[in-house]
Amino acid sequence: MKLRFVLFSALAAAFSIVHAEDKPKADSKDMTKPEIVKSDEDWKKLLTLEQFEVTRQRGTERPFGHIYEEFEKQGEGTYYCVCCGAELFTSKEKFHSGCGWPSFYDSSKAKGVLEKVDDSHGMHRVETVCKRCGAHLGHVFEGEGFKTPTNRRFCINGVALKFVPKGGEAPKLLEVNSEAVQNKKDEVAKEGGVEPKK
Ligand SMILES: [Zn+2]
Repeated sequence: MKLRFVLFSALAAAFSIVHAEDKPKADSKDMTKPEIVKSDEDWKKLLTLEQFEVTRQRGTERPFGHIYEEFEKQGEGTYYCVCCGAELFTSKEKFHSGCGWPSFYDSSKAKGVLEKVDDSHGMHRVETVCKRCGAHLGHVFEGEGFKTPTNRRFCINGVALKFVPKGGEAPKLLEVNSEAVQNKKDEVAKEGGVEPKK
């Protein structure tokens, strides 16, 4: 009972710290809309069931699973989005947090990770998604006392990542589909006061 209380307090503290921190930085233009938009049916054709459930349905993989074990053994390299191939993290930002999920103290220089406020499940958290395709990656927590350059922990589902060892070939970027391009054109036309052509 006591342990449970201690755990709960620790969790509550962690979440309240996140709450007190600045909201994720947003650029002046709306960067929250992913470039790549696909139906669930289309994603299912491109992903395994586990990848689909985590990235497209905001699922969470089991901690300390086989993917995590592999992650812990991986050396230098780059982590890409399993859905669209965008660069998300590198081994440089990787650290051992002991939480059972792949942990990074920052996203890679490519800035492919978007942070969004997530108030689901009665908790206030910051969700991390792929900026390019909107894939759910995990969450980011702040101020937990890890001795890293940022004191942040990107707690990421390993199944959402594709690891390429240093010197390996980056995965091919998934192309922006014509549907998304058309939607964007329609939006721009609307903003300009033009009725989009059907
Ligand atoms: Zn992606």
